[in-house]
Amino acid sequence: MTVRTRPDLSRIAPYVPGRSIPGAIKLASNETTAGPLPSVIEAIAEAAAGANRYPDNGSVAVRDALAAKLGVSADRITTGCGSVGICLELVQATSGPGDEVIYAWRSFEAYPVVVKVAGATPVEVPLTSDYEHDLDAMLAAITDRTRLIFICNPNNPTGTVVAAEALARFLDAVPPHILVALDEAYYEYVRPDAGAEAAPDGIALAEGRPNVVVLRTFSKAYGLAGLRIGYAIGDPEIIAALFKVHLPFAVTSVAQAAAVASLAADAELLTRTDGVVAERTRVRDALIAGGYDVPPSSGNFLWLPLGDQAAAFGEAGVAAKVLTRPFAGDGVRVTIGDPDENDTFLAFALGAGLPIW
Ligand code: PMP
Repeated sequence: MTVRTRPDLSRIAPYVPGRSIPGAIKLASNETTAGPLPSVIEAIAEAAAGANRYPDNGSVAVRDALAAKLGVSADRITTGCGSVGICLELVQATSGPGDEVIYAWRSFEAYPVVVKVAGATPVEVPLTSDYEHDLDAMLAAITDRTRLIFICNPNNPTGTVVAAEALARFLDAVPPHILVALDEAYYEYVRPDAGAEAAPDGIALAEGRPNVVVLRTFSKAYGLAGLRIGYAIGDPEIIAALFKVHLPFAVTSVAQAAAVASLAADAELLTRTDGVVAERTRVRDALIAGGYDVPPSSGNFLWLPLGDQAAAFGEAGVAAKVLTRPFAGDGVRVTIGDPDENDTFLAFALGAGLPIW
């Protein structure tokens, strides 16, 4: 007899992560190339020695450190098993079968997964021809079943941002019973040079708007992707709702210790993002000079809208041991690595032997 699983599982495609191949450079998952700082490794080792105990389920030390950094009270903060864990919590706390969750497409690959896992209905609103969120179309997609809207800002994988003013107008137009999640996983890489004149700070926008919650992560600029810790800032009522659907002990003691140690080295880690931003400009300029269309990016990655050639580009990269993230029929996302990795990528992308993309 076959086990009966939910019938709607047939409509869920499992999340497909970026590839890793021994000996290849991996520019497929928007990670940080540099490993954790010595002080963070020390904190990790210390926490590992106490791994026989369950972690603090309330992540108090992390939330206190974040509260001090961000200037908000700790009851406005929650942590999760990566910010993707909080994406799932947001859907579970707001939406059930028949309810609708709106997000732009193409965007973060996990949105359709978490929405469907929770039994809710995804409503995907195409990006504009400039690969940006179409905020008017997203407003028009709201129905009486809408419970949650994700705005990925900067957008993964296109790197585009919704500017602060446009975002404020959008938030004011959304009915207050609908939760809006501003997913700022790449917040630390936003600079005014990349089309983001008014760099959006979701925390400022969430001020006075209790239906707005901001997601950030330690996986990108803080370099802790392997430990799985992200956080959300929002109205205490929403934070309390998220905690109800939170998987007990979802954030490990090692992740919490690493996050606290990383916040103690905040300035040094944030300075590191300047190097990524400089490389982002260098790689983009070189690609454009080589004939590629590359929209300005505010993330630690670039988007190559290669359309039908995206899959072939990705496969050619695998053969050349340069791993990128192709989305068949749409484009390729390449993470900004260290200068040597970026040179290797450019040699591949601009090199002889490839068709003109
Ligand atoms: N949001 C966006 C837009 C992302 O790109 C990612 C990771 N790729 C996440 C959230 C999740 O990151 P994590 O779970 O590692 O915090």
